[in-house]
Amino acid sequence: MMNTANWKVTEAPTCPHCKAVMEQMDARYLDWESPYLWVCYNNECTLFKKGWNHMMESVGQLVSYRFMIHPQNGEAGVIPAFSHDYLEKRSKPMEPNPDE
Ligand SMILES: [Zn+2]
Repeated sequence: MMNTANWKVTEAPTCPHCKAVMEQMDARYLDWESPYLWVCYNNECTLFKKGWNHMMESVGQLVSYRFMIHPQNGEAGVIPAFSHDYLEKRSKPMEPNPDE
């Protein structure tokens, strides 16, 4: 079992941008030194919606970012997020490249 006694945020926090309750995202295979991150999955989140335009203008890619909080040190940040249906499309075994 994980020892989470010293973690700053172990109960679902509320997103300051949209007031949605944040959810755990599996981060075991990511480079965050934590098994999970708190992420705002609300597609109406103001930070998420603003991100679309910003990223489209700055890098020309259809990606955005979501608000996240690191459970161990309580630091807030953002993680990149692809479009809502990106992963769904790509995960269909019979349609490896549905847009081509
Ligand atoms: Zn939010």
